[in-house]
Amino acid sequence: MAVIGGGSTGTSIAFYLQKKGAGKVALIEKDEIAWGQTGKSTAVVRMHYSTEELVKLASASYPILKDMEAKVGGPSGFIECGVVVAGGEQDAAAINANVKMQKGLGVDTSLITARDLSEIEPHIQTDGIAAAAYEPHSGFADPVATAKSFADAFVREGGMVQTRTLVKGFRLNGNRITAIVTDNNTIEADTVINASGVWANDLLSSLNISLPIDVIHEYVVLIKRPQSFQGSHIVFMDVPNNYYIVPKSTSQTCVSVLTGDMSRRERSPSSYDDVQSGPDFETMNDFAEKLAYRFPTMREAEALGGWSGLEDVTPDWHPIFDWSSTLENLFNAVGLSGHGFKICPALGMFASDLILRRKSNLIDHHFFAEDRFSVGRTISARLNAGSMA
Ligand SMILES: Cc1cc2nc3c(=O)[nH]c(=O)nc-3n(C[C@H](O)[C@H](O)[C@H](O)COP(=O)(O)OP(=O)(O)OC[C@H]3O[C@@H](n4cnc5c(N)ncnc54)[C@H](O)[C@@H]3O)c2cc1C
Repeated sequence: MAVIGGGSTGTSIAFYLQKKGAGKVALIEKDEIAWGQTGKSTAVVRMHYSTEELVKLASASYPILKDMEAKVGGPSGFIECGVVVAGGEQDAAAINANVKMQKGLGVDTSLITARDLSEIEPHIQTDGIAAAAYEPHSGFADPVATAKSFADAFVREGGMVQTRTLVKGFRLNGNRITAIVTDNNTIEADTVINASGVWANDLLSSLNISLPIDVIHEYVVLIKRPQSFQGSHIVFMDVPNNYYIVPKSTSQTCVSVLTGDMSRRERSPSSYDDVQSGPDFETMNDFAEKLAYRFPTMREAEALGGWSGLEDVTPDWHPIFDWSSTLENLFNAVGLSGHGFKICPALGMFASDLILRRKSNLIDHHFFAEDRFSVGRTISARLNAGSMA
């Protein structure tokens, strides 16, 4: 078997395949482990979603990310700081319904009042917040450490990692792949797992396969907090204002968007060569204004710069996670947009179940099937906020 892509998705799938006795598994990565979008991720770990399937995947992943050293043998860098998802009047019904559904699935979450929120986060100004969901034990992790921990554990289980190796094409026999062709060698494979993220359509172009995945762009801005706002804080997701914050160290905070720039949708990451640098003035100004409103003390904050990220987005913001509808032994694990990190352990368990046993107890495997778009079974979300789908 061959897994293409050494991000959080591919490393987790490779690990669980190898651990469950898949035989000889190769993990092929064109750069280094976590050098793709995993390394750009803000890596928020929360359970708040509007579909049961994503909630189940996030819930199954949480204990692994929280206790990765014991469960996988390496760190995830998980920090439990609490996560709040906040909305205005227009979001209240969706947030209330989401929390009810999540509680039914055993998630430790609750609806909190504006007063509760001020107690949890004294720096916050709560005007306009009509609903808020609080997960006290959620937080964020280190995406690079997590992917490396999976890759190292995969090697300990007997897997083979080949980095600096670009998959350029495939050998076929009828509608089966027999080998993958790289710039270094040819690797025979009875099953191929495509975990190439935003590069999915570039990778599949030699097979004339085109998945309904667009690549969108977003910036992450790193901020130095003022003296009056030191220490940690909650992850705060402001749905109507389309941004969220994540604490980084005791004095810095990352700010980014819940939905990336949908005015520009490309098929390939290479189309974004013009914006692959740090955030522009307009973006930093926009974040500064939103933050100063919600956290008045942040008026004194200083932008330190930041970076660009890309997301692989399907029309319904849910992944394509199933056998290919074109080739028998190709499994697609792509279209993860802003969801992929927090659910990466469960993705590995789920994919390895489907590949080795053709079924999984985690969720119904038809839910993320590729053909849902052609048969009109697209998934709908309660919150209209991209990564919060
Ligand atoms: C700015 C940003 C913030 C985010 N924040 C969050 C968050 O808070 N929480 C969350 O859960 N998710 C978040 N995400 C999403 C999450 O990070 C990703 O969905 C997740 O890391 C899964 O990535 P991946 O492994 O699918 O893709 P990647 O990490 O991009 O991995 C794909 C790999 O495939 C390799 N590859 C591609 N083509 C080839 C080829 N032909 N040959 C060999 N190798 C190839 C690439 O080099 C790459 O390393 C965020 C993403 C971004 C960009």
